[in-house]
Amino acid sequence: MSPSRAQQRPRRPQPVSITGRPSDGRVQVMPTDQPPEGATSPDAKPRLSFAVPAARGKAPRHLADLDLAGRKAACKDSGLPSFRADQLSRHYFTHFTRDSADMTDLPAAQREQLCAELLPELITPVRALRADGGRTIKHLWELHDGVRVESVLMRYKERTTLCVSSQAGCGMACPFCATGQMGLTRNLSTGEIVEQVRHAARASAAGELTGGPARLSNVVFMGMGEPMVNYKNVVGALHRLIEPAPEGFGLSARGITVSTVGLVPLIRRLAGEGLPVTLAVSLHAPDDELRDELIPVNSKWKVGELLDAAHDYFLATGRRVSIEYALIKDMNDHAWRAQLLADELNRRDTGWAHVNPIPLNPTPGSIWTCSEVAVQDMFVNTLRRAGITTTVRDTRGSDIDGACGQLATEVLNQERAKTT
Ligand code: SF4
Repeated sequence: MSPSRAQQRPRRPQPVSITGRPSDGRVQVMPTDQPPEGATSPDAKPRLSFAVPAARGKAPRHLADLDLAGRKAACKDSGLPSFRADQLSRHYFTHFTRDSADMTDLPAAQREQLCAELLPELITPVRALRADGGRTIKHLWELHDGVRVESVLMRYKERTTLCVSSQAGCGMACPFCATGQMGLTRNLSTGEIVEQVRHAARASAAGELTGGPARLSNVVFMGMGEPMVNYKNVVGALHRLIEPAPEGFGLSARGITVSTVGLVPLIRRLAGEGLPVTLAVSLHAPDDELRDELIPVNSKWKVGELLDAAHDYFLATGRRVSIEYALIKDMNDHAWRAQLLADELNRRDTGWAHVNPIPLNPTPGSIWTCSEVAVQDMFVNTLRRAGITTTVRDTRGSDIDGACGQLATEVLNQERAKTT
């Protein structure tokens, strides 16, 4: 969900020309000033699409696709006692294992059958890259049909966080995002999302991150894909993450964040699910003129509608909304935009939203490059002076193609190069 490192291309700065907005004498760079990130030709333009292509074969049924009643029914259908579902679920959600050899409390003859029927291998590692002194691990996974997705595990002082993918590719076509240029391949099943979490929980507990064993505490849906387009399977995964064993992992809903570029009806639907997870809105611009170009879905739901829905989400769940704002040099980092953002938030309420400015990597020659330090400080101070709580995001894994879609694209390019 964050802008990726762009290839070096000439930049064509333009004078400030956004209609009806105050000029602070700064250049206005627009997203259309160069081809989208990862574009294969200069005139390539991915198109916004809500269509989900038909999957090439369904992912095998997995325990995590089912609630406990469904797992019991599946055991019964296979001629096994239904309480085995409970035991198997505890192994999976508490000990993070799908290996029948670990399940010594189950009769040997039934172990293999149970694991084969309810715990098939859904994701296999293709590559793992470590960064930040071993406190960050980025995984590229292959799914049953050969499609690939990424997840990133990050250890902080107070928490360990996994960023998961909810789709292979994405149909939202954001011009700064490598995943957006791939288009949408397919939705991930609930089991495929939960398996990313199970692997991370096991790796954390086994001490694979620098600093020794840790408990996975946070999960953010900020990897490949727009979670709201895969609504049903994402909500299924949220249930598995939050509900205590044997239903699920028993993570605190407070530690789970669902990020969206702004599918307003589905934000409203999520507010009614009774799952008090944090909503993160990838806003990146407070004015429709710029956001229409930066986030194509803004052509359907404008900034005002999006912030209304986000505020209603706060009212329904009591969870403060995160506003994600990637600071892009001369594109969206003007003082008047910081003030407009503050005004738009304060107009609805106080204390309901928290802004996270995200510094980009420096990329000379690209329009997708970081703001100058003084400009970033001005942006943050303008928000804070207006009473908006603001935390500049830590950018983890920036030395390992940290932004979504980059590792998958990189590996694909390497493999193509090998075969030619
Ligand atoms: S919504 Fe899709 S295209 Fe846009 S930033 Fe997120 S993954 Fe990339």
